[in-house]
Amino acid sequence: MGEADDNESGAAEASPATNHGADRAAQVPHAMAALAHAAGLEISPEQAGQFDAYRGLLLDWNARTNLTAITDPDEVDRRLFLDSMLLLPALDAALLLMPASPNRLIDVGSGAGFPGLPIKIMRPDLDITLIEATGKKVAFLNACIAELGLGQITTIHGRAEELARDPAYREQFDVVTARAVASLPALLELGMPFLHLGGRGLFPKGLDIAMELSAAEAAAPLVGGQIVASRVLPGSQTTLVAVAKVGSTPKKYPRRAGIPAREPLGHLDRSMYDHSARRRRRHSAESVRSDPPRAERPAAARGSS
Ligand code: SAH
Repeated sequence: MGEADDNESGAAEASPATNHGADRAAQVPHAMAALAHAAGLEISPEQAGQFDAYRGLLLDWNARTNLTAITDPDEVDRRLFLDSMLLLPALDAALLLMPASPNRLIDVGSGAGFPGLPIKIMRPDLDITLIEATGKKVAFLNACIAELGLGQITTIHGRAEELARDPAYREQFDVVTARAVASLPALLELGMPFLHLGGRGLFPKGLDIAMELSAAEAAAPLVGGQIVASRVLPGSQTTLVAVAKVGSTPKKYPRRAGIPAREPLGHLDRSMYDHSARRRRRHSAESVRSDPPRAERPAAARGSS
């Protein structure tokens, strides 16, 4: 309990480096640092302090505004902070191949900052742009940036469809990320325009993405992309999809706001998607029919519906 009290007093002030805090950091392994270490990532005491402040702000704002469904501090560490940090090895590898620094990353639909803000904490040299369509989330991001004292990071309240047409942003970035924003074909249309040739899209997805991936294979060449990897990250429930920018994105993309998500590119494979969805529906109907009658489906109830 002493630790929780310390956390509270530490998070309330923007001065995590009190003697007391430093002593404790030396004695008790920081929970976030331990989590990161288990995933093969090291975080400094200063970064651990920034994650503490970020978590504090997130929980505090979330009590008043709806930023994320996650409200448990350990879940914040695991499902938001660590999940975002899992992109780091692929990000570092991609940046090795890029022109000189500062490297620029854009996070589309950043929400409460994922994965862009944890990436900024871990890789402070990156120049990061966070785009978010919802004003109150942008206000939260700005509050975090100020509180954590981060530089070379910009927030933009707007939609990717519009920003990607602005010459100040189009084909200007080394890396684009987007987490839990849209299906892969939509992410390709929204994300690829931001990348210069040779840039990388890094899109964390869930485990069951076969159909989305096949639609994305058809969508990628339309927007100058090529899917170069799709791998389940070790010890996680995340498939990381990496896309290379191999050709310039035609001017007509992205289409106007809302269309990329509503009418995703990759129609050829979408028909395949529909086909397999139909097959799955038929299959499950058959397995229901071949099941022995179940108590919860009495004939009388079926007749009355
Ligand atoms: N990436 C965050 C938020 C996911 S929720 C996370 O992983 O927790 C998706 C967010 O994307 C929402 O906040 C929504 O406002 C934003 N968004 C959706 N479509 C967008 C678009 N076209 N341009 C900008 N932001 C968008």
